[in-house]
Amino acid sequence: QKPVPSDIAISRSCVPKPIDRLAREVGLLSDEVEFYGKTKAKVQLSIIKRLQSQPDGKYVVVTGITPTPLGEGKSTTTVGLVQALGAHLKLNVFACVRQPSQGPTFGIKGGAAGGGYSQVIPMEEFNLHLTGDIHAITAANNLVAAAVDARMFHEATQSDKALYNRLVPLSGGQRTFSPVQINRLKKLGIEKTDPSTLIDEEITRFARLDIDPSSVTWQRVLDTNDRFLRKITIGQSPTEKGYTREAQFDITVASEIMAVLALTSSLEDMRQRLAKMVVATSRSGDPVTTEDLGVSGALAVLMKDAIKPNLMQTLEGTPVFVHAGPFANIAHGNSSILADKIALKLVGPEGFVGKMTEAGFGADIGMEKFFNIKCRYSGLRPHVVVLVATVRALKMHGGGPIVTAGMPLPKEYVEENLELLKNGCSNMRKQIENAKHFGVPVVVAVNGFKTDTQVELDLVCSMAKAAGAFDAVCCSHWAEGGAGAVALGQAVQRASEAPSDFKFLYDLDLPISDKIRIIAQKIYGADDIELLPEAQHKVELYTKQGFGNLPICMAKTHLSLSHEAEKKGVPTGFVLPIRDIRASVGAGFLFPLVGTMPTIPGLPTRPCFYDIDLDTETEQVNGLF
Ligand code: ADP
Repeated sequence: QKPVPSDIAISRSCVPKPIDRLAREVGLLSDEVEFYGKTKAKVQLSIIKRLQSQPDGKYVVVTGITPTPLGEGKSTTTVGLVQALGAHLKLNVFACVRQPSQGPTFGIKGGAAGGGYSQVIPMEEFNLHLTGDIHAITAANNLVAAAVDARMFHEATQSDKALYNRLVPLSGGQRTFSPVQINRLKKLGIEKTDPSTLIDEEITRFARLDIDPSSVTWQRVLDTNDRFLRKITIGQSPTEKGYTREAQFDITVASEIMAVLALTSSLEDMRQRLAKMVVATSRSGDPVTTEDLGVSGALAVLMKDAIKPNLMQTLEGTPVFVHAGPFANIAHGNSSILADKIALKLVGPEGFVGKMTEAGFGADIGMEKFFNIKCRYSGLRPHVVVLVATVRALKMHGGGPIVTAGMPLPKEYVEENLELLKNGCSNMRKQIENAKHFGVPVVVAVNGFKTDTQVELDLVCSMAKAAGAFDAVCCSHWAEGGAGAVALGQAVQRASEAPSDFKFLYDLDLPISDKIRIIAQKIYGADDIELLPEAQHKVELYTKQGFGNLPICMAKTHLSLSHEAEKKGVPTGFVLPIRDIRASVGAGFLFPLVGTMPTIPGLPTRPCFYDIDLDTETEQVNGLF
């Protein structure tokens, strides 16, 4: 076998086709495309209307077994699969993937463009700023944060009348409400449009959001792994002293606005979701929204370009949409509904859309949220689940030493060991069962590494079939590109013709705790759940506030089916502790926190950025992977 060069060396050795040519090839009209340089373009949403009568293609979701921290190749397999279907089996295809966060790119994990000969190119464009969507989210999110603290400050320092006069200023001798203020009046049940007619009690209700500072859930964000922002004190300048409070930064991709981008279905829908986001509770117990703050229109303005999916390509010239990248712990970890919808129209009824759920998380997290949250909002139904498995992760589940990033792999992982592998297949069996709960056929893709033996790869395939997979195929797309995933492509084609009987795991009308219990018992294998006092309080609060019928987005470690990362295989006999529950009302889900979950990662001692540099002669980026 020839050695495989580094990801960036492979990416750079391939000249991408001009993006305008790719756009034409996939059937986009020139006025539907906005170019961002030679290798990236945004696609306008007007295409949805133009293609509304076109039947959809086949919808495939790629997920994985419980991974090691190194990742088992979901991105790589998504790209390898579409290269096989498009460049080798000559079908119309599209991959829809998440935009990676720059935090992990410069931190531990590196980029997420796939790997080896299955990559989205140019990988440096993909992994870095792309077309600025994440920056737009940072700007929008932090505008809300500034609005929350400024509002609390102004309310604390002014009388009702003074506040009202500033909120509705005199202009040409008259006061007029802005459209967002009229919306707020309607919400308060005040059917008036002339500011001079409000009575004192109405002025107080209108002017004061009366935010309880201890209830603020909206945080500032940054797309950098910066552990020192996990807890901060704001308002330290003498001009705000007296209004200091403890706060935190989250990573941008964990922002609710990222989840809104991923789940929205149109500009109008995004505008409404951006208005419904709850930032805090008032002292009288009412939810305070971005619309109440008057900032939702400005958010829509900041996000108006980010809503358009980004077109790129694979190493073999097949099209890719890169759009939205919500973190999979406190958000739902799936790329955008809009990209999937447009791609399904563009490929047509004979084509395939490979949809990657997320990077680094298994079927218990990414796939469960894909079905129960994303498919519920999009109305789309997948035809096939591709479950990526690796020999190394299965050996770890079978009792092999715990694998960590940056350490050389112990010998169990580079030598044949059928005993560990066989034991570890329990995790794959459970994840196949998890996919089958949704009534969709499962194809297992065994992502082969050069140290795997044929006997090991064959064992995984036969165990997968015995566990109820529609098919199981060994693939070598990392080393060989699409040619190494042709058998996988054919298996996916066959599975897409098989009968499926899609169903959700739970009804939205069930009480919040029942929905959480169903996920914990059916997907994680827990005996039960335990709602700790804060979580119990939130169940009552959200039910009272009318958010009880939202779907559930579990925030749990991805390194185990249970809540304890070190428990591998298929843990049993555990009770899942729910520490707290938060609400992303605009995005449209409640997220229970299982244990403690950092919402902004930190940098390791030797971060990836040590290897990254710019060749100033050629402007080439070195060291990304
Ligand atoms: P995931 O999407 O599951 O997190 P990735 O596709 O990003 O995983 O792969 C994780 C890392 O492993 C990447 O650096 C990728 O290049 C590498 N990788 C994936 N498959 C293989 C393989 N078969 N052989 C060697 N390295 C691989």
